[in-house]
Amino acid sequence: MNEIRITLPDGSVSECHRGATVKDVIASWKNEMLSSTVAAKLNSALVDLSHPIKEDASLEVIEISSKEGLAILRHSISHVMAQAVQDTFEGVQICIGPSIEDGFYYDFEYSETFTPEDFEKIESRMRETVAFDYPFLHREMSREEAVALFRDKGESYKVELINDLPEDIKTVTIYSQGRYVDLCRGPHIPSTGIIKAFKLLSVAGAYWRGDERNKMLQRIYGTGFASEEALAEYLRIVEEAKKRDHRKLGRELDLFQVNDEAGPGLIIFHPKGTMLRTVIEDWEKKEHLKRGYEMVMGPQILKVDLWKKSGHFDHYRENMYFTEVENQGYGIKPMNCLSHMLIYKSKIRSYRDLPLRYFELGTVHRHEKTGVLHGLIRVRQFTQDDAHILCTPEQLNSEIIGIANFVSYAMKIFGFDYDVELSTRPEKSIGSDEDWEMATSALKDALRVNKMVYEINEGDGAFYGPKIDFKIKDALNRKWQCATIQCDFTLPERFDLSYIGADGEKHRPVMLHRVILGSIERFLGVLIEHYAGAFPVWLSPVQAVLMTVTDRHIPYGEEVFIKLSDAGIRVERDFRNEKLGYKIREAQIQKIPYMLVIGDREMESNRVSPRERSGKDLGAIGVNEFIGMVKEKCAQYQ
Ligand SMILES: [Zn+2]
Ligand SMILES: [Zn+2]
Repeated sequence: MNEIRITLPDGSVSECHRGATVKDVIASWKNEMLSSTVAAKLNSALVDLSHPIKEDASLEVIEISSKEGLAILRHSISHVMAQAVQDTFEGVQICIGPSIEDGFYYDFEYSETFTPEDFEKIESRMRETVAFDYPFLHREMSREEAVALFRDKGESYKVELINDLPEDIKTVTIYSQGRYVDLCRGPHIPSTGIIKAFKLLSVAGAYWRGDERNKMLQRIYGTGFASEEALAEYLRIVEEAKKRDHRKLGRELDLFQVNDEAGPGLIIFHPKGTMLRTVIEDWEKKEHLKRGYEMVMGPQILKVDLWKKSGHFDHYRENMYFTEVENQGYGIKPMNCLSHMLIYKSKIRSYRDLPLRYFELGTVHRHEKTGVLHGLIRVRQFTQDDAHILCTPEQLNSEIIGIANFVSYAMKIFGFDYDVELSTRPEKSIGSDEDWEMATSALKDALRVNKMVYEINEGDGAFYGPKIDFKIKDALNRKWQCATIQCDFTLPERFDLSYIGADGEKHRPVMLHRVILGSIERFLGVLIEHYAGAFPVWLSPVQAVLMTVTDRHIPYGEEVFIKLSDAGIRVERDFRNEKLGYKIREAQIQKIPYMLVIGDREMESNRVSPRERSGKDLGAIGVNEFIGMVKEKCAQYQ
């Protein structure tokens, strides 16, 4: 039999001769698709378009603009870059070059240091390779042959990679374009001519195989897209993100610092950062009380035995800090749940008491590796707007619906769009199949009732239950983790929580862990970047600054200052003996919403002349009128 049957993406079946290539099959199915197709999947395994099909299979097409297509394109560009580097610089050794989120890199060993100026040379050489339209050729060879090939070329890193493969692997795959040869699993785009848009971005040091005992290599990062327009848009966003970097703005706006003397991942909030935080925390308290939550507070350290009882010691120990007091081991809390459980347990509970909603602005410590720490986004100490809801199984749905409503309200207030994701049972987990099933369907049901569109992340749930994640989308369309709702059938079991039901019998309550903004630190980081530091008036740590023209205006300035402060407006005085233009520029860098210039005209007419940070002049108005205007801007939030 020389005919084989290929199931096509539309479900139809195509017959072709054994050995026909993937490209042949696609061409005879939909020839026009070939121009946008870079690779395919045969029975779910990635293959090149030149791959000969040997037996019946199902075929999926990978288009260049898909996530997988882009990864294949970018990885292929990394080969082209490596070729250009090899051609341009004498004595370079090639290491590895995968695609990564948003781009690719390739590691090289080279005696000189690459500079961004070298990028132009490399890029122009890459363009030549693209113009030649070399096919990416795929070959299989024995390990021995491959070792000999790379040894002859002096590529010792490739030799090491082959030698370290498990013994049962007898053959390896080699890709080449032009004279360039690389050890690679593939797949690749059919030829270099498909590459339309790429750019080299940066160079950094990286250890061979990520191990600091190994040699330090040079890693050149780049990116590629299916079109010039897509690349330009990406580069624009990268530039914009640099301008908005919360670490940079945090310094410029004098909000916070991370200081090595204090320790990595530990945030020190300056007065303005603390004010910003306080505004958010006050909002949180008010909104929680309005929704029937009760505020609670627990200790920072709790006995190790309690962490053993909860399962954290077994499942979360690597992320926890421990200490000892009078020969007693304590765990510094990485989560706020345990105190809340003890509050529940302090009384006999009846079904009439439920649901109980305990809210805490709870500070937690989690050990994150130094390498992943990032400004306010990834830290070792942070405060969550954490709550635990204990309810009857019947109340679970309405509680989840209530939380989802709360999240959507909060996102509107802070000006974010968001995506919803449901995460199911991970491999490392506790609890019975039945509990997991019940919890997962409760979450799904609540999303359905709330008409929320969601994606499913298989196996991404917490170890104790499934969860809903809300990912906020900032002004640059980047996604950030914020709110979560996690179902937990396990902790109530472990702590033997119960309530007396209407039937007079003891029942087990269900527990929900949830946060709305999540880590306040992370949320602030996202907020700073979202607004590029120009916060809405209600959030601004300083809402107005008074600026005198000369010392003569100070007494009137003081008068206005007292009036505004008394009215609860966060106001600063800039009564320095500096030029007005200088004061205005400084206030603009601080992104203060209103600048009030105090000169002769204002003093004589008993008015102020507010100027917005955008530069817009609002003209002279009475002090009370200004107060009313600011209050109105904040009214819906406070
Ligand atoms: Zn490759
Ligand atoms: Zn919790």
